[in-house]
Amino acid sequence: LGRHKDDHRQSGFTYNGVEFSQNNLNIFAGLCAVDIPDHVEMMMRALEDNGEVCTRMGAYKPRTNPYSFQGHGKGCLPWVFEKAGKHGIKVIAMEITHESHIEEIDHCLEQLGRPTGVMLQVGTRNTQNFELLKAIGRQSTYPVLLKRGFGITLNESLNAAEYLASEGNANVIFCLRGMKTEAGQPHRNMVDFAHVPAVKRLTRMPVCVDPSHSVGSREQSPDGILDVMHATAQGVVAGANMVLVDFHPKPEKALVDGPQALLMDELPAYLEDIRLCHETW
Ligand code: PEP
Repeated sequence: LGRHKDDHRQSGFTYNGVEFSQNNLNIFAGLCAVDIPDHVEMMMRALEDNGEVCTRMGAYKPRTNPYSFQGHGKGCLPWVFEKAGKHGIKVIAMEITHESHIEEIDHCLEQLGRPTGVMLQVGTRNTQNFELLKAIGRQSTYPVLLKRGFGITLNESLNAAEYLASEGNANVIFCLRGMKTEAGQPHRNMVDFAHVPAVKRLTRMPVCVDPSHSVGSREQSPDGILDVMHATAQGVVAGANMVLVDFHPKPEKALVDGPQALLMDELPAYLEDIRLCHETW
């Protein structure tokens, strides 16, 4: 992934017609967790109406508490993929927590005639799950979004990305999502988006930022701007190539991370702000 001095290959790749590189920007707004078909439908329709072709949809949720909603798993894949195809979504970032999920996703997409594409997401709790990384690295059908580990060094997280590449899949995007701090305040995690240019310098991976999981709430500054928006702007101005962000039509009904979700009617302004930040930079 560009960590060796004699490796001068170009960064980036194209997947299902969408280009990912260190020089462009893709937005993945969507549901943290898939819940009911209506919410998925509303989300995807809003994305289509706003010209977006990527989204995030969590089917397999890695929860800290075993009694929390764990995601619908493979049961929701057929209708999520069908709706994605219907609304022109080309890439869904979807976290997997076990290698068997690759087969479940692949089988379902195959049965439906591949109406959409999937980017396999490795969450912060699995950044150093080396057997999972090796299994994902051994397949080359799906690109990978690897999250930074929240309690390890940047170098250790970059080495984790190398596990994917060393097994054969170099279509990897590295995602900054904040670091755990002792205080945990005022944000859920310490926003680390100043590291975007550092990761781009150290590797040839496109870099993603996740303002939702970094900030973790809908707190806003006295001028009425949401901290999630401030953090997004920081990431984009720092050169991020992808933004992963939680939206929900009814955050109070969301089964995971509702308090940090942006509202559907905030989507157009959010996308416009990102465009302005990107262009200005
Ligand atoms: C997520 O993106 O849904 C998620 C659980 O993020 P993280 O792994 O960064 O906590």
